[in-house]
Amino acid sequence: MSDAPSPDPAPDFAPGSAPDPAAIAANLAAVRARIATAARRAGRAPEDVALVAVCKTHPADAVRHALAAGQLRFAENRVQEAAAKFPPLRAAYPALCLHLIGGLQTNKARDAVRLADVIETLDRPRLADAIADAAAREGRLPTLLVQVNIGDEAQKSGIPRAAADAFITACRHRFGAALAGLMCIPPAAADPAPYFAALAAFAARHGLGVLSMGMSADFEAAIAHGATHVRIGSAIFGARPHPAAAGTH
Ligand SMILES: *Cc1c(COP(=O)(O)O)cnc(C)c1O
Repeated sequence: MSDAPSPDPAPDFAPGSAPDPAAIAANLAAVRARIATAARRAGRAPEDVALVAVCKTHPADAVRHALAAGQLRFAENRVQEAAAKFPPLRAAYPALCLHLIGGLQTNKARDAVRLADVIETLDRPRLADAIADAAAREGRLPTLLVQVNIGDEAQKSGIPRAAADAFITACRHRFGAALAGLMCIPPAAADPAPYFAALAAFAARHGLGVLSMGMSADFEAAIAHGATHVRIGSAIFGARPHPAAAGTH
């Protein structure tokens, strides 16, 4: 559900076919150019907007092609898939940075803390407890973003808007500087701009610097509203091989 359909006819290869290195490199270059244009249009520096390449459901070879094209920051939405795909890639590319962007069950918190550099989906007190506990056991605390259910949609993850200020404050006290910012997925089929503006207002109120918002279909609008991280999948890797399995949370 939160896996908003992208109207962009981006795929350069058929779902399920072997990932094409030239297509992935060309898509990455095109997306980077669009990010730079959107940043400049907003009076921002292109390097202030980080591209997070969302590779969920795509094979490790697709990630390898992106790495070869200079992309180091990736995102998965499932812990198990990240665990299967990323350890060998990280061994080959120590500078690789992995974000987790899917709804996180408390019983996966320990694996998430072990695997991820950034967990974008901290959205409830029990998960904060589980992450704190896992961090103590693992001796490692990833960067954390609070996911706000910015459209207050029943089917979506994220802390409800009315509870967000108190939760962000509590996470700030608990995790200190590791709590770096906020993430949202606006309602599908609505103008995302007011939702991006609302998330930016939450971040400004709490003095948080990281704003993860914007996907293939709407990242330019997100950048206009201050996104520091855009999460882009299909515009880079093409249509997901198994759409039914992609990211309902
Ligand atoms: C899948 C996903 C994306 C990427 O979506 P695209 O439309 O393919 O760019 C971004 N954010 C989240 C949370 C996702 O689950």
